[in-house]
Amino acid sequence: MCRMIAFSGRCLQCAESFTWDDLSQRLSCLEAKNAGVFGMCRRGVQIEQHAFDQECDRCTAENGVDEGYGDGHKQKRQRTS
Ligand SMILES: [Zn+2]
Ligand SMILES: [Zn+2]
Repeated sequence: MCRMIAFSGRCLQCAESFTWDDLSQRLSCLEAKNAGVFGMCRRGVQIEQHAFDQECDRCTAENGVDEGYGDGHKQKRQRTS
């Protein structure tokens, strides 16, 4: 059976809750590997949910902006407030 490991938690800065898609992992079992598709097996996918708190991308970007990352990639400035 395949396993998907998902992480979700709260941002340490803005306290919003997030699912950390970048951290999630998909582990295919042998059967799914042979089929070439994640989850393509008799027993399906088991999802493991883990709690994980970290700064969200937005807060990380905002904190990083003034530290000399001036060349424009990885700058996301989106504020809802
Ligand atoms: Zn599987
Ligand atoms: Zn945040």
